[in-house]
Amino acid sequence: TDVRETLDYQTFGRAVRELAQTIADDGYEPDLILSIARGGVFVAGALAYALDCKNIHLVNVEFYTGVGTTLDMPVMLAPVPDAIDFSGKKVLIADDVADTGKTLKLVHDFCLAHVAEVRSAVIYEKSHSLVECEYVWKKTDDWINFPWSTEPPVVRRDSQVLDA
Ligand code: 5GP
Repeated sequence: TDVRETLDYQTFGRAVRELAQTIADDGYEPDLILSIARGGVFVAGALAYALDCKNIHLVNVEFYTGVGTTLDMPVMLAPVPDAIDFSGKKVLIADDVADTGKTLKLVHDFCLAHVAEVRSAVIYEKSHSLVECEYVWKKTDDWINFPWSTEPPVVRRDSQVLDA
């Protein structure tokens, strides 16, 4: 399908405030927010201000596609955060979208072994996701255009030729 769910920066701002409000109303007060790079970093930063949480961590997760196999699985790239950082903490995992949910499941399972409590917050969750996040702003099954990844990376412009 060609349908797109487009999130612009203004709507993103409203979305994370509403997401934070839902988390606050639920009485969850995370000690730290664990963002999944790169999209989750935007979400984590905005949630951290809205929830008055000054402790942000980051994990890098990348989908590894095996050569010659149809199996996809996400892998946590080094450096994996030290378990000591998390002991006894209430953690909020932040990401942009739970699509297959594999990325969130990986990070969630990693946390379960080390933390007191872990919950997840995403802007979007798709119906086929294998994890159900505690906090979701909107459910969609369309492909999402996020404001930070819709445009290609900038390229260096040609320097002006100053000729006498
Ligand atoms: P997963 O399938 O593990 O839940 O999602 C892995 C990652 O794929 C997400 O964190 C996100 O970066 C990317 N992704 C999944 N679905 C979408 C989508 O609809 N739009 C965009 N822009 N990225 C997506």
